[in-house]
Amino acid sequence: MDKLEQRVKELNKLLYDYGYAYYTLDTPLVSDAVYDQYLNELIALEEQHPSLVLPDSPTQRVGASVSEGFQKVTHTTPMLSLSNAFSEEDLLDFDRRIRGMIDETPTYVCELKIDGLAVSLLYEDGILVRGATRGDGTTGEDITTNIKTIRVVPLRLKDNVTLEARGEVYMSKASFQKLNEERAEREEELAANPRNAAAGSLRQLDSKIAASRNLSMFVYGMGDSEVQNIDAHSEALNYFSVQGLPTNKETRVCSSMEEVIAFVQEWTAKRTDLPYEIDGIVIKVDEYAQQEELGFTAKSPRFAIAYKFPAEEVVTTIIGIDLTIGRTGVITPTAILEPAQVAGSTVQRASLHNEDLIREKDIRIGDRVIIRKAGDIIPEVVGVILEERKGTEIPYEMPTNCPACDSELVRIEEEVALRCVNPTCPAQIQEGIYHFASRNAMNIEGLGEKVVEQLFREQLVKDISDLYKLTVDDLVKLERMGLKSATNLVEAIESSKTNSMERVLFGLGIRHIGEKAAKILSETYHHFDALMLANKEELIQIFEIGEKMADSIITYFEQEEAVQLIERLKEVGLALQYTGKIVDAATLENGLFAGKTVVLTGKLTQLTRQEAKEQIEALGGKVAGSVSKKTDLVIAGEEAGSKLEKATSLGIETWDEQKLLDQLAE
Ligand code: NAD
Repeated sequence: MDKLEQRVKELNKLLYDYGYAYYTLDTPLVSDAVYDQYLNELIALEEQHPSLVLPDSPTQRVGASVSEGFQKVTHTTPMLSLSNAFSEEDLLDFDRRIRGMIDETPTYVCELKIDGLAVSLLYEDGILVRGATRGDGTTGEDITTNIKTIRVVPLRLKDNVTLEARGEVYMSKASFQKLNEERAEREEELAANPRNAAAGSLRQLDSKIAASRNLSMFVYGMGDSEVQNIDAHSEALNYFSVQGLPTNKETRVCSSMEEVIAFVQEWTAKRTDLPYEIDGIVIKVDEYAQQEELGFTAKSPRFAIAYKFPAEEVVTTIIGIDLTIGRTGVITPTAILEPAQVAGSTVQRASLHNEDLIREKDIRIGDRVIIRKAGDIIPEVVGVILEERKGTEIPYEMPTNCPACDSELVRIEEEVALRCVNPTCPAQIQEGIYHFASRNAMNIEGLGEKVVEQLFREQLVKDISDLYKLTVDDLVKLERMGLKSATNLVEAIESSKTNSMERVLFGLGIRHIGEKAAKILSETYHHFDALMLANKEELIQIFEIGEKMADSIITYFEQEEAVQLIERLKEVGLALQYTGKIVDAATLENGLFAGKTVVLTGKLTQLTRQEAKEQIEALGGKVAGSVSKKTDLVIAGEEAGSKLEKATSLGIETWDEQKLLDQLAE
């Protein structure tokens, strides 16, 4: 058997197993994105080699077999699937295809693609007589009693008409959460996602259980019907509403693909704000006459397409494991990946955190793995696809010595991480310098990782105090460093000398002393000299400084090297003094924002975000990243987006930048 044929068989088997778990057992083994990636691989192979299409390939079938226990229902008009689009390019192709096949310009209807399961409702003379699942498209399951438990589904329509309405039964995020909370309490297995929970609920033989699940439904299509005078999909949706059937209000009729794409972009940004899950946008040609002209393939209509949101999970291969050494000596293994597109960006590395995680997930070099990246989060390895293991993958052994300085690595008690404890380890020192220069510490622009690496290699900088001795002449010798960049860098270093104490303190990278602790300590002691004299009793008296932090400060300044470093920093001219506002407890307690949680969103024009944050905090407020019920106030700059919308929908007070400035001035 040749390689391609072998792969096609593998993919058929994998997709069959995943499909069975998903459709029949309602307990998916992988995410939809991963399933779709394998399905797309199979589609591509089948398109190139049509002879390889197996008769029961998942590309030829809708859904999965119908489970026993329910009466079977035959759909006179099959309930099909939808072909998918994964990019704007795919949507433009769809539009081009449509225009190539029909004479007039199409109007499109955009609908949210509700992540639930397709159901058919049959009304005879206005009375609900049958509810059925899609099943394999031709044969579904009779779930009438369960459907009748869904409150939004009318048992009787307004008029005595006979029609079949199709739509999606779903479970809202709130009901899903409630279900899983109850399950957790009973120590039962949790439902994977609202879609599978909805499917599982509808296919309960005991309709009391279905009734308790609080399911809901949106109707989005006409099946067989005797209703006259409906010539377009949008008209059918209106008609459903008039008859009392639940339709989704976010539907939009668009006269061009550009408008469709705008709708897609809008919902890509807003979708998490919905009370139910959607996995894409469905785009349908509106006019029935045009739909008929376009017709169907075996599996899906040609007049509709489902745009799927960018995948947050993909399958790729681990080609190696790299070790990085942090500034505290922690050794972190990082997976080097075959580049993959995840959540809209190319991912080539993913953190493996520590040795235990590699063991636990049994990650080997050469493995096919699922990578997840949601939003801004650092990509992580979710797990290995064991079904794809060939036997040639290589288990990974963590080294016993530091890859940078070769000293023996240690595992500190109660910690999972391996550490290099050599204080002169070059990798750690470089990381430390890089951290010192970073934005939230000394904010020295132009001192990136590559520059630090070179400065260290050329022995121009051995510790952070050496940065302040650098000259333009030193810098221009570095790779890719022009006169202008060198001059700018020297200036940036120079002006960092007057930075307020908390930036220096945070920049030293003392364990447990983050930005906030550095700020509190600086506000209290005003100068390094005073802080260095502090004792533990005194430190733990300070609000929000715990024992761990106090110990860490004491231990740090007990080191002779640390004292000398501070001396050297003084010699090169660092102020080491707190220049920020002195905040007393009274302002914190009675300030304008005392006890309030404030969210900043959009572009501010007269203040930087950091400045706004500092001022709010100085007046007793807390600045949070996302809007929730706990938010008291939202400051919305220009082009504020979903956070502002959420705030408005939650009825939270919002100010624009001017109002903030006015209030601060007062
Ligand atoms: P589909 O989900 O790609 O599209 C068709 C379905 O969309 C319809 O049947 C309907 O149920 C739904 N839909 C929602 N809103 C709609 C609207 N407004 N108009 C029309 N239809 C709407 O195709 P599919 O054939 O149902 O199933 C494939 C889906 O199931 C994929 O998302 C796939 O990833 C997932 N799946 C996942 C696994 C897994 O293991 N995770 C296994 C099999 C299938």
